[in-house]
Order: sequence, then structure tokens, then C-alpha cells
Amino acid sequence: MGGEELKKTFVMKGIGVSPGVVIGKAYLFDRLDAQVPLYKLSDPGLITEEIQRFRKALRESEKQLLELKGRLGDLGGGMDPLYIIDVHIMIMKDRKFVDQTIQNIREMSVNAEWAVRMTVDKYREIFDRMEDDYLRGRISDIQYAGQRILANLAGKKRTVVGTGEGVIIISTDLSPADTAQMKLDRVLGFATDIGGKTSHTAIVSRSLEIPAVVGLVNVTRDVRTNDDIIIDGSAGVVIVHPDPEVRRRYEEKKRLYKDAQDHLLDYARLPAVTRDGQRVEIGGNIEFVEEIPSAIAHGADGIGLYRTEFIYITREELPSEEDHLASYCSVIGAKGLSWSTIRTFDQGGDKFYLDKKSSHELNPQLGLRAIRFCLKEVELFKVQLRAMLRASVQGKLRIMFPMISGVEEIRAAKGILLEVKEELLAKREPMGKDIEIGVMIEVPSAVIVAEELAKEVDFFSIGTNDLIQYVLAIDRINEQVTYLYEPLHPAVLRLIKQTVDVGHRAGIRVAMCGEMAGDPFYTMILLGLELDELSMNPLAIPRVKKIIQGSTLRESKALLKKVMTLSSSAEIRALVDAAMRKRFPEEFQINGQ
Ligand code: PEP
Ligand code: MG
Repeated sequence: MGGEELKKTFVMKGIGVSPGVVIGKAYLFDRLDAQVPLYKLSDPGLITEEIQRFRKALRESEKQLLELKGRLGDLGGGMDPLYIIDVHIMIMKDRKFVDQTIQNIREMSVNAEWAVRMTVDKYREIFDRMEDDYLRGRISDIQYAGQRILANLAGKKRTVVGTGEGVIIISTDLSPADTAQMKLDRVLGFATDIGGKTSHTAIVSRSLEIPAVVGLVNVTRDVRTNDDIIIDGSAGVVIVHPDPEVRRRYEEKKRLYKDAQDHLLDYARLPAVTRDGQRVEIGGNIEFVEEIPSAIAHGADGIGLYRTEFIYITREELPSEEDHLASYCSVIGAKGLSWSTIRTFDQGGDKFYLDKKSSHELNPQLGLRAIRFCLKEVELFKVQLRAMLRASVQGKLRIMFPMISGVEEIRAAKGILLEVKEELLAKREPMGKDIEIGVMIEVPSAVIVAEELAKEVDFFSIGTNDLIQYVLAIDRINEQVTYLYEPLHPAVLRLIKQTVDVGHRAGIRVAMCGEMAGDPFYTMILLGLELDELSMNPLAIPRVKKIIQGSTLRESKALLKKVMTLSSSAEIRALVDAAMRKRFPEEFQINGQ
């Protein structure tokens, strides 16, 4: 008490996944689901008490919602929010909902939190079976009501993230669905307990240009809402309760960082051509169409990866064909982009789940992901493909299929695409003429059968995020094994080389769209490997272009040649590190990578 001003500064180290410095207030974002205590009541005498706790939480929840409704009503505007609040109140008063929960407490001797969760789960099962998409989506209202009750059982008020001042989000982890719920313009930075360089939290924060540090282990334990904190996403550091001196230094760092970015934009405007005339196409990786202006401003020639799964997570109902169409037209038709690579839906793994059943998979990274899911849910797949074909009149479209592990999958996907095309032709729907088809090379077996795959497609795009995870057997979001995640592992480099060689022999283009493509530390190696296109986070483009414009193909190939003779990652890293520091001292003298 009274010691507010004197809180001790402390530093936490994690993995910097999105560069930049932010200074602000922390906001502890707790996904309630992860934190709810579940236990059996030790004594039957506690049952009545537990039921009273539940009833009290119901009353408090209703009171809060009525207050919220009053506040929103005072603001005027549309009726929708008020109507939704009424729905939530109705759920909390619903006899079946209340009785079922009380019955759970009585019959199973569980605490109120557990009982609420069971009721919500039961409703979810019923809703999952509903035919109507809209009705099925309404489970979210029941879940919201349930979460509010859980918050009150825990004695917390549920606050909306991102109202008022900008905040730095502190969380155990952030799924794309969590981020989609936030008012991102109010989010200054992210700091999470778990995650690695290529987890989707990392990718999303980079594309939104929000500094982020993940893998901090205990940040949710050690930082409280309203604490002053600094995030240095470039260094992977979080500073809690910074003293005035530290704060001043970081204000300066923040300014320098911004200057450096602006100055790099000079490189962005010019094409990515080496000093001896080798041209590399540069793509932007995007998750939202809102990122297109940033991709163009940072010097992308086209879009090398549009992660369309994000169309699904920003809404509660399944997107319609027209929703898809609108997004694809914005990408393909964007002025300033020469081509657009749209990847079909890649759900699963560390991304979100459309199908609740697969969220219970024991090994989601090896489960019903990406193309596997689409080949199973053909109707859903067709909606997306139809929209892509219809949008192709707007410009140059490249359709890319993720997680292809062998020829059967690409043939099946192409077969479905052909069916959709014929349906559209029968309806005289106009379509672009020169649509290209490609596969992501991200499963090791795809490299092994690349020769066969090359006969089926117009291009390959290497997804190093998954390729590394699968070939080195490292979960890409598990911070315990991040140290093993090594793009310069000889096995990884050999797989990339093999893919490029096979692709070129077959006369097709080979791109790379994993995070490795956007790290300037690897740029000379990738030049030496002769990739035709590098696609990356838009923010990363200027620096990568700078390296390409300052290198020659000849020296890059010479470097690669030496690298390919080495047998360990450590030796390779040391060699590349020395080469990059020597050639580009201003870029690599401090952090090494
Ligand atoms: C990859 O795996 O490298 C890739 C680009 O796809 P994603 O990160 O979306 O899985
Ligand atoms: Mg992938």
C-alpha cells in the first residue's frame, strides 16, 4: 500500500517475433476457459452453497448486462447491441439453462464453474447438429452468457479489450480467434507466455505491425493489468515498471526504430535485382485484405500468400460465396499488384478450428488440416474455389493448395477445381484465362515426390514454417523446442535445394513463402539457392530488398556452395553469420540475425 511509485523494474526475456518498441499499460487478457477451476465437491453439504454461488453469479451477470444496456442506450445508435444483450439475459434466465446447471451440481457434486461448462457444452452439442448455419452460429451467445457467469463466479468483471487508451495485451497465448475479437487499433503490443517464431500469434502481430514478444513463460503471472510496461519486439524483451531512465532510453529507441523503417522504404521502391542482374520476384504475405496497401507501400510485386483461413475467423457464420468473392476481388484487382497467390483454406494445426470435433485431436499438427479437411468437406471447398474463379477476371490469379503430401491430393484438388470450373462455364460465368495452380511444399514427402508433383502444377511455394516443423519433428508453437527450430539445418537446406532443382528441371517457378523468406539474415543463402520468388511479411520486404540489391548472385552461390559442404547447423550458422556481418555490417553487427 502506498508504494505504487516505487515498483521495482524487472526484465523478462522471450522470443521477439514482431519488431518495434512500444511503451504503455498492460492489460491481462484471460481467456476464461483456460483458467476456470474445476473440482468435485468434497462434502455433499456444500451442494446448497454451490447452488447459491451459481444463483448469485447469475444475478450479478444480469445486473451488469442491464447496466451495459443502459450505457449503450444512452449512446444512441442502432438497436443491435441492445437486442443482443437481451438475448444474453434471456439465456441466463432460461429455465432449462438454469435447471440443467443446478442438476449438474446436485447429481455430479461438481463446483458451479464445472456445472456451467457442462451445460454450455451440452448446448454446443445440440447446436452443432443444427442444419441452419445461422442458428448453429448462435451457440456463441450461449457461450458468451456462460463466460460472463464464469467471470462472476471468479469474482471478476469481464471487460472488453481495447476500449479507451491503447493497451499492451498480456496473455498465456493468443489464438487468431482471440486477436480477431480485439479492437486491434487499440492494441499497442503483445506479450505471451507461450509461442514460437512461427506461431500464428507471431505471424499476425508482424502483419499488423504490432510489436510482440512470445515464449515469456511467466508473463501472465508476473504482470498485472495497468502495470507500466515496455515491449521491445526486436530484442525479445519485456520491461515491467520501467524507471524514468529506462523509459527515456526506450523512447529514444522507439524513435530510432521508426527512422530506420522510413529510410528503408527507399529500397522498397526499386525491384529486387542483384548487382549482377538476377531478379527475384517479391511477394507479400497477408491475412487480411486491409494489409494490401502496406504490401504495396513496402514494395511487393504481388501477393505470394493470402491466408484465406482468416476469412473464416473474423466472422461467426460461415462466409458465403459472395463474402469470399469480395475478399478475392480486393486482392486480385488491387492496383499496384501484378499477381495474387490465394491459398485455399488451411485450418487446423495451431490455427483455429472450423470443425469443433477436430479441435480435440491429439496431434492437431498431424491431423485433419488444410487440404485434408477441404477434401473431406468438399462443399465448403467448392464455395471457396468458385469465388476464386469468379474473381479471376480481376487480374492474375495463382491458386495454391496447402499441405500437399502426394500426387493423389493435388489430383483430387484439381479434379474438384475442374468440376467447379465446368459448372461456372455452363452458367457462362466469365473467368480469367491464365490461372496458375501451385502446391505448397511443406510436408517432407512432397519434396521426395516433387518430380511427380511438378507435372501437375505451374509452381511450387516452399512453406518453411511447416517444412521445418515436420522434417525436424519440432512443434512450431512449443517454446521448449524453439532452440531446435533451425532453418539452416543441413537437412532443411538440402530439401529446399532439391525442391528448387526439381522445379527448375521441370520448367516451373519455385517460390518460398515461409518466415525464412522474410529474414534478411538468410537472403544471400536463398539467392544462392536460386528461388524465383520470396514472399514475406510486408514489413520485412525493404530490408530483404536491400540485401538483394547489395549482393551478387555469384557471391551468393559461392557462399551456398561452402555451406552445403558443412555437416552441422552450428557451423553453417557461424559461416553465414560471418559472411553477412562482413557484407552488411550496418544490418547485422548487433543482433546477428
Ligand atoms: C508455412 O508453413 O511456411 C506457411 C507459409 O504456411 P503457414 O505458416 O500458414 O502454415
Ligand atoms: Mg504451412
